[in-house]
Amino acid sequence: MTQLFRILIVDDNANNRFTLKSVLTRLDNCQTQEAASGDEALVAVIEHQIDLILLDIQMPGLDGFETARHLKMSARTRDIPIIFVTAVFKAEEFIRKGYKVGAIDYLTKPIDDNQLINRIQLYQRLFQRERHVRDALNALQEKERQLQKINQELDQRVQQRTHSLKLKNQHLEQEIQERKRVGNALKHAMKKAEAANKAKSEFLATMSHEIRTPMNVVIGMSDLLLDSTLDGEQKQFAEVLQNAGRSLLDLINDILDLSRIEAGQVDLSPTPFQAAKLVQQVVEILEIKAAENGIHLSCEIAEDVPESVYGDNSRIRQILVNLVGNAVKFTEQGSVTIQLSYHHTDVHQLNFVVKDTGIGIDKKHLDSIFNMFSQADSSVSRRYGGSGLGLTISSRLVGLMGGSIRVESTLGKGSAFYFSVPVHLADRVDIPAESPETKPRSGEAVKALHILLVEDSPDNQLLIKTYLKKTPHTLDIVSNGVEALKTMINNHDTLDLVLMDIQMPVMDGYAATRAIRKWEKDESRDSLPVLALTAFALEEEKQKCLAVGCNEHMTKPIRKKILMDMIAQFS
Ligand code: ADP
Repeated sequence: MTQLFRILIVDDNANNRFTLKSVLTRLDNCQTQEAASGDEALVAVIEHQIDLILLDIQMPGLDGFETARHLKMSARTRDIPIIFVTAVFKAEEFIRKGYKVGAIDYLTKPIDDNQLINRIQLYQRLFQRERHVRDALNALQEKERQLQKINQELDQRVQQRTHSLKLKNQHLEQEIQERKRVGNALKHAMKKAEAANKAKSEFLATMSHEIRTPMNVVIGMSDLLLDSTLDGEQKQFAEVLQNAGRSLLDLINDILDLSRIEAGQVDLSPTPFQAAKLVQQVVEILEIKAAENGIHLSCEIAEDVPESVYGDNSRIRQILVNLVGNAVKFTEQGSVTIQLSYHHTDVHQLNFVVKDTGIGIDKKHLDSIFNMFSQADSSVSRRYGGSGLGLTISSRLVGLMGGSIRVESTLGKGSAFYFSVPVHLADRVDIPAESPETKPRSGEAVKALHILLVEDSPDNQLLIKTYLKKTPHTLDIVSNGVEALKTMINNHDTLDLVLMDIQMPVMDGYAATRAIRKWEKDESRDSLPVLALTAFALEEEKQKCLAVGCNEHMTKPIRKKILMDMIAQFS
């Protein structure tokens, strides 16, 4: 858009002003202002927007030069272009002075109209161009300002974002530290708890071992008492004593078993076995007890159960005996049924169900029934007896085997315990044949044996001595491994059997057996049968005894009949 060009004509002579003004009307977009003196000119430039001044030099009052000097002094008016108008004869002198005070051009009087118009048009164009440049510059500056503002805002936002990110980072860092701390504390607590649990288990194992030894004597002595001539009341007392001893022993066995499971000391010993046979054996074991209670015990075995499987049969038997034992115990009439089925998807699985028509379990006790020392009802446990550990041991063993266990029960109607264990399929040939020697040859004439008993406890010595009193066997007794080794070497030819206690002072049963086996080998002697007597009823214990060279293993408390049958094997 073309801008209006405003010219201030400063001349003391009204005719001159009029002439200039008339000439300038020929210009487009041009507007003129007039001032009759330098002073008027200075006022006009303040009041109006002026783009060019035509300034006469010779004027009364402020002349052109002084007016120009004043104009140059103020920032507002400093840049207004000034064209001096002067008489031709004065031109030389005025021109020099004029430029000095800031004139850009000059015109001489009398004014040549065309020259005036041309000049002014030139300045007008320059002015327009300058305006354009200035506008563009302003626009540019405005853009730059906006850009700067945006930049600043952006900067601010980045700063804020960085700050909040920093805070978040700090927070995250704190959280990581906190988690690390909690994790460490947890690990520490776990370690402490594990150590405490292990200490507890070890304590329980030691305690139960210590209790088993005198218990062995109590049960053994009551056995002997019952074998002697007693009147009715004495017999009853002895039976009570024996029953109490047996329950205590069961409890100790359970505690020992559980503490070893808890301490992670129980390893599974998988062997090939026949699952159906195992179920039948459990029925055989508990049949008599069931019959005494007047209930029917039976089993149902699915047709597709594989003949031979590979798993820890002694642990499966333990669980089954426990569940069926409970079922028989808690059923006063009706029946107990064991079901065995087989399932195969990714793994081969044996599924056992033990169902009874017994007293059932209250719903509120069902969830805790597998917890330690949990009995559905204390009045029930008083009536039926039991420690409340059997189900805990069973569920831990099932867990150890990677299986699962659960119960369904209705109070007054009966219960059903379900458990499943994974097994592998075994070849039929894998099943170890039952050796005829392991079967006691009862009823046969007993050969007199020379037996050496290695036992540190005088009570146990007395017990075994009494067991063998009325037999044809002769018994030598020593109380530690060193003495045993000496006697075994000296009497190797005449000895028939060694009953070797394992836990003994000076030299234990393992070391003594190992030493005698070495001696026999070095001397090329036949090996003397050694029967280990241990306090632990555990498979590992048995394996350890067999590994050092014992021929058999017996768990204390030693029952008379079992000992006799075992001795008979070696006669
Ligand atoms: P206990 O030695 O007391 O039998 P268990 O751990 O084997 O210990 O069983 C815990 C409790 O669960 C029992 O005391 C009894 O209250 C309940 N229980 C277990 N089996 C049965 C069952 N077949 N019928 C009814 N109650 C049962």
